[in-house]
Amino acid sequence: MNSFFPASVENLIDHFASLPGVGKKSASRLAFHILAMPEQEARAFAAAIVEAKEKVHPCPICQNLTDTELCPICASGKRDPSVICVVSEPKDVLSVERSHEYSGVYHVLHGVISPMNHIGPDDLRISELVERVAKGNVNEIIMATNPDTEGDTTAMYIYRLLKPFGVKVSRLAYGIPVGSNIEFVDDATILRALNGRVEM
Ligand code: ZN
Repeated sequence: MNSFFPASVENLIDHFASLPGVGKKSASRLAFHILAMPEQEARAFAAAIVEAKEKVHPCPICQNLTDTELCPICASGKRDPSVICVVSEPKDVLSVERSHEYSGVYHVLHGVISPMNHIGPDDLRISELVERVAKGNVNEIIMATNPDTEGDTTAMYIYRLLKPFGVKVSRLAYGIPVGSNIEFVDDATILRALNGRVEM
């Protein structure tokens, strides 16, 4: 396709278009928005990307993203490290935190097993979870992956891996409709799902 725009503008559009959920049309809208910005604002925007990229890293314990050595939840003395809630994405930690009732810690997988998208167990932070359980002192694993095919497959895969360690593995089930995303579930439903979790 012949380009109507200067190469640097095309380049910017391509970068926006590479983001999840951004089509070519939105990408050009965003690129032109950036071009219309005062230079200082555009520089601050670019610097924010670089700074986040430089400072943010996975927490060595739970794999959640953090800009401190350990994430605030792992570093907190008030959380119970013997109960681990397993979620697929960092944003899901916020969803479970919204219940204001969960006092355990987390493990973030950074995805789900998805053969369709060529994502296997080795692409996720599953071995790090197994290592945590193998160290002992873990009483319960709460699988909080989404109640859809990929979330269920991932939960079942991890359940089989952890079974030999004799740890209790439960699954959020009650109250979360099948096929929904825990990111969009309201606080009361999350709380019901936590309290009504069933052993796998
Ligand atoms: Zn952590």
